[in-house]
Amino acid sequence: MDYLPVFLQVQDRPCLLVGGGEVAERKVRQLMRAGARIRVVAPELAPSLRELLERGVIEHVNGDFEAGFLDGCVLVVAATDNEDINREVSRLAQERRLPVNVVDNPELCSFIMPSVVDRSPVVIAVSTGGASPVLARLLRAKLETMIPAAYGRLADLMRSFRQRVKVRFPDMQRRRRFWEDILQGPIAEMLFAGQDKAALAALESRLEDNDGESGKSGEVYLVGAGPGDPDLLTFRALRLMQQADVVLYDRLVAPAIVDLVRRDAERIYVGKQSNRHTLSQEEINALLAELAGRGRRVLRLKGGDPFIFGRGGEEIDTLAARGIPFQVVPGITAAAGCSAYAGIPLTHREYAQSCLFVTGHMKDGEFDLNWDALIQPRQTIAVYMGVANLGRFCSELIRHGMAAAMPAAIVQQGTMPRQRVFTGSLETLPGLVEQEEIKPPAMVIIGEVVKLHEKLAWYEPAVATEDKPS
Ligand code: SAH
Repeated sequence: MDYLPVFLQVQDRPCLLVGGGEVAERKVRQLMRAGARIRVVAPELAPSLRELLERGVIEHVNGDFEAGFLDGCVLVVAATDNEDINREVSRLAQERRLPVNVVDNPELCSFIMPSVVDRSPVVIAVSTGGASPVLARLLRAKLETMIPAAYGRLADLMRSFRQRVKVRFPDMQRRRRFWEDILQGPIAEMLFAGQDKAALAALESRLEDNDGESGKSGEVYLVGAGPGDPDLLTFRALRLMQQADVVLYDRLVAPAIVDLVRRDAERIYVGKQSNRHTLSQEEINALLAELAGRGRRVLRLKGGDPFIFGRGGEEIDTLAARGIPFQVVPGITAAAGCSAYAGIPLTHREYAQSCLFVTGHMKDGEFDLNWDALIQPRQTIAVYMGVANLGRFCSELIRHGMAAAMPAAIVQQGTMPRQRVFTGSLETLPGLVEQEEIKPPAMVIIGEVVKLHEKLAWYEPAVATEDKPS
C-alpha cells in the first residue's frame, strides 16, 4: 500500500482551503459533509462558493495566501491554478506537520482524498494512489449502484441495538452469527424497501426469541424486469437477482435478463403462454408461498412492471394472507419502454394530454373496455396484448367514433435488438399483422403522437442478434 487509509475527525475544526475556483468548491463540499469549519483563502470566489459564503457555511479571507493562515488549522488543501502557490502551501504546511493535499499533484501531498460512497455512517473510500482519479470515480459509480441507499439507516439501526445484542449474546461467535443473519435476511431487506417499522419489530422479536434464530424465515421479491433490454433493470432488481435462492420466471422475461440471476440460484420456468400455461396462476401463487415458507429467498421475475397487467397483485395476495414478508420492485412497463425506443412520446403538448393503458385481451370473445373513454380526443392509447385481436379492436374504435385515419403503431419486441416498428392507421394496421408476420410480444400505440415516430426514431440496432438461450 502506498498510503495508509484513515478517516479523519474534522467536525468543527478549522480547515484551510487555498483557492476559490470550481476545483476548490468540490473539495469544500467534501469537507462540509464531514462538518469541518472551512476557511477559503482566495482573491476571488466562484459563484457557487460565494453562495456558500452568503449562507454562512464557509469563511472567506479575501487576498493572497500567507503562512500565518495555517495557524490553528488541522488540515490544508491547495486548489489554485498557480503551481508556485500550491508548492508554497505544501512546503509550509509540511514544515508544520500539517496534513496537506494539493489537487491533482500527488507529489506535493501528504494525504490524498479518495472518491467517496457516502451512506453515513457507512463510508466507503476509493483511492488509486493518485494513479487515476477517473478510475476511482468509475469504481465509485459501480459501488453506488450495488450498495442500497438505505445502508446508512441499516447501520443506524444496528448501532441502536448493539448494546442489547451484546448483553443478549455474550458469546462473540453467537453474536456475530446473529448479526450476519440479520444483515443477509429479510430484516435488512425490509429496511432497504422502506418498511422500517416492520424491520424494527422483526428485530425486536428476534431478540426476544429463545435462541435468537426463530427458524430461518423466507421472503418473496416480486420484481419487474422491464421490457427486455437488460440495461433497463433497476439497481434494486439486479441486487435482488444476485441474492435470491430461487427464481420463478416466465416467457415474457428476456433470456438476457434471466442470465443475470445468481449462477447457483435455482431457476423455475413457470411458462405463461396464453395458450400453454405451464403452471396455472393459482399454482404459481401457491408455489411462491411454499418456497418462502421453507425459508428460501424467492424472486418472482415479471416482464415490465409487476402491477401493470402482470397479475402481481394476486401473487402477493396469498403471501400477505399468510404473513410471509414480501416486497414489490417496479419495472419499466412495456408501454414506456416501447414508447421511448420507438420515438413515440406517450404524451405531447400538441397531441396528447393523457394516456390510457388498456388490455386488448378478449374474455369469452368480448373486450371488457369502456369504448367511450377510449375514443376521447388528444389522448394516447397503449394496448397490451393487442395484436391477436387487433382487427376487432380497431373496428370497435371506429364504430364508436374514432377516425379511421387515426395514426397507430405496433412495436414488436420493444427495447430488444430485434425490435420492429410498424406505423399506419386504425384502418391499415390490422392488415400489417399478417403481412409482416407480427408476433407477440408487441405493443399497439394509438393516437396522434404516432406521427412523431418518423422524426424521433433513434433506436436502430445494426445486428438483429438471436436471443441467447438462458
Ligand atoms: N407487466 C407487463 C405487461 C404484461 S402483459 C408490463 O408492465 O409491461 C404482456 C403484454 O405486454 C404483451 O402482450 C405485450 O403487449 C406487452 N409487452 C411486454 N413486453 C413487450 C416488449 N418488449 N415489446 C412490446 N410489447 C411488450
